[in-house]
Amino acid sequence: MRSLSALLLTTLLTACGQGAKDDQRGVDSVPSESSADTEATEPPTDDDTEDNTASDSAVEPTDTTIDTAIDTDSAAPFEPGAAPTAPLLPEAGELYIEQVRLPFLPGLDLGEAAIVIGPDGTTVLLDIGNTSHDDNLRDALSPLSPDLSVDWVVLTHHHQDHMGSLEDLLLTASQTVTVTQGIVHRGFVELGGGMSTDDYERFCDAVRGPLAAVDVPLCESAAPAPCDEDATDYPAIACDGLRLGELGSSDDDGADVDTFIDLGDGARLTLIAASGWASGDDGLVPLAPGANEHGDVENALSLVGVITYGDFVYTFGGDLNGPGGADGPDMEGHVVATSGARVLGSLGADVVHAHHHARETSNGPAFVDWAAPDDGLTRSVIAGINEGYIGSPQGAVLDAFLLDDRLAGGRFWITESASGALPDDVVNADGDIIIRTVQSGRGYWIQARESLEAQSIEAVRAR
Ligand SMILES: [Zn+2]
Repeated sequence: MRSLSALLLTTLLTACGQGAKDDQRGVDSVPSESSADTEATEPPTDDDTEDNTASDSAVEPTDTTIDTAIDTDSAAPFEPGAAPTAPLLPEAGELYIEQVRLPFLPGLDLGEAAIVIGPDGTTVLLDIGNTSHDDNLRDALSPLSPDLSVDWVVLTHHHQDHMGSLEDLLLTASQTVTVTQGIVHRGFVELGGGMSTDDYERFCDAVRGPLAAVDVPLCESAAPAPCDEDATDYPAIACDGLRLGELGSSDDDGADVDTFIDLGDGARLTLIAASGWASGDDGLVPLAPGANEHGDVENALSLVGVITYGDFVYTFGGDLNGPGGADGPDMEGHVVATSGARVLGSLGADVVHAHHHARETSNGPAFVDWAAPDDGLTRSVIAGINEGYIGSPQGAVLDAFLLDDRLAGGRFWITESASGALPDDVVNADGDIIIRTVQSGRGYWIQARESLEAQSIEAVRAR
């Protein structure tokens, strides 16, 4: 059933199946259908996993319901206005999310990144791409923040396609980006699975060295892990960084509520899981015994969160694994079981960021049913893909979100295709994808920046 509130504007769409490239560095779990998902480093051989319990993290139960309700006028009709005839730009009082296309260079770089700008102008980089992508990200940021200043950088995990540009972007380029508040990451604990040691070491050295003043690790090990591959032997014993309330203020650090970045006017980027730990009803719990033995551990321990404004909800989770990876637990399922009902209830999200560049090792049934329930309400899915992610978006992921019109007239938006023919419900933006809320989060526009193809959709909680 299609929602009558979905206004569809179709302009040019060229669903060009981009040819997959063969040569690339194995920085992520996608060089082939399965190789990197099985090439993981050896799991820890000591008793790390037994230490990885919640025993020392017991906290008082609190009312931790994520409040997405602000002063939107639910009685007012949803009026998105005319379809935009130019690329959407940030607007005071609205939330803006730009998923940036980061090009694949043969033999080089996978990568994804997004720019999030809150209703009050608070700016967050959500992943920052690979070593070669600092110029691309700077070019995308420059019109939005002419002084190249951002408040926060949030990195979902330590694979270089998500954090590799950090040193160049923030330290060594002729025009560096300034971070005023913090670089948030899951912590230097229990590394593994497709790591590039060189890039990891440069990243780790940077945030412990010249960027130490803005280093915000969420989880910690018993002893500080070294900035090298041996950090795989340092399990997270606590992730107190997930329970600090507003991250920009220390006043509420003892309140034991979800950590969030204040984006202004009630908009928030809220963190709910990292390094195998998630915020449950009764405080932090490890997601699964043996999580740090997952064959694809770096993806499995991705940072997970939601961005909310008014009635609007957006989910993200880096490359978090689902049950498609046969060599480890269904990490998506554990996040949903631990935090799911509290965070989204039964209404799901408005925009779902597909995990792991729309790979079938992620985006399993528990996650899809949670974030995009088959309830007849219109919603969207987006994915950060470039030509190096061979086969993305994968057919099983497209089926999971699109079969039986699950998105109810909404569509699956990708920055680029590394697959063949695509279903009609996929929009290959071949460029950036922009989301901007309408009426303080009553709904949103989603737009392919290059083609201007766009759709407006009323938020599921506003209906
Ligand atoms: Zn990735």
